[in-house]
Amino acid sequence: MIIHLKESIDQKTAEEIAIKTDSICLKKGSKFILINSGKIKAIKGDFNNAIEESFHFESDIQLASRQYNSDTIPIAIAGKIIGGNSRNMMVITGPCSVESVQQIESCADFVSDLGISVLRAGSFKPRTSPYTFQGLGLEGLKILSKVREKYGLKIISEARDATHIDEVIDHVDIVQVGAKAMYDQGILRKCGKAGKPILLKRGFGATLQEFVQAAEFILCSGNENVILCERGIRTFETKTRFTLDLCGVAYLKEHINLPVFLDPSHAMGYAYGVADLTRACVAMGVDGLLIESHPNPKIALSDASQQLNFKEFRTLYDSLGAIASAIGRNII
Ligand code: PEP
Ligand code: MN
Repeated sequence: MIIHLKESIDQKTAEEIAIKTDSICLKKGSKFILINSGKIKAIKGDFNNAIEESFHFESDIQLASRQYNSDTIPIAIAGKIIGGNSRNMMVITGPCSVESVQQIESCADFVSDLGISVLRAGSFKPRTSPYTFQGLGLEGLKILSKVREKYGLKIISEARDATHIDEVIDHVDIVQVGAKAMYDQGILRKCGKAGKPILLKRGFGATLQEFVQAAEFILCSGNENVILCERGIRTFETKTRFTLDLCGVAYLKEHINLPVFLDPSHAMGYAYGVADLTRACVAMGVDGLLIESHPNPKIALSDASQQLNFKEFRTLYDSLGAIASAIGRNII
């Protein structure tokens, strides 16, 4: 249940009512709102003269629900808007990992040349094995920050766990919460206070309910700039790395008020399928795409099999505009 308190209710009174009603108190614009479990249909106690309006839901998908706010939240990135009524589709690319200054500068040259405004690269890598490259950590974030200054690009990079979330928030323009970190409440709560857009990836074993509830942790901590990213879920199929859940994306578009991105690279796991899958993603009419590219994928230190080389990416990128315009979207 979400309760909008009257504009005349001050912070102290709002917090007192929150304690008495087991609610989270959040400031939204000039008003305070209270949020408690979706199971609660009426609060105990007589607060009628403090309440302006209340909203009821079938589950704990509340702030993210289109029942609460029917419009997709607009998020400003690199001076452009995704979501809202923008019809923009933002393409973000870059390597899986930051590997060296030279590698990142080569990627920055490439994306700048294409007119892409956001570069992706992970530095705290959530690897499946402890014996593989774990990322350059803080050093990698510093490389990304320098590239941001030199090229005027925006940067997205991921947090692996809550131990270094502050460093990630300090250095990036968009915080990526990876599939394996989707349940990390230390990360989610910090993201709620980050004051920067968050790209939350769906855990590969997470239901849509769990996925959106993870977003609710960020939203109810005060950050409404959350992008949901579908990147493939685990099914019985092993020929591809994961299975991209486009049905889930249709659900999110219909019921959830947050912008949706698709990541075909991690879903497919093999470069040969990424171009076709990306075109299918564009046809889905989402708000953005996250695609891995690398100057020389063969020697990439992580996710080598799925990264596109620059020639492959350019050919793919050039093919997207026509599909986007057929569904009334603009590639940005
Ligand atoms: C990545 O984006 O490189 C990554 C590790 O993705 P995911 O969290 O979806 O596995
Ligand atoms: Mn990767």
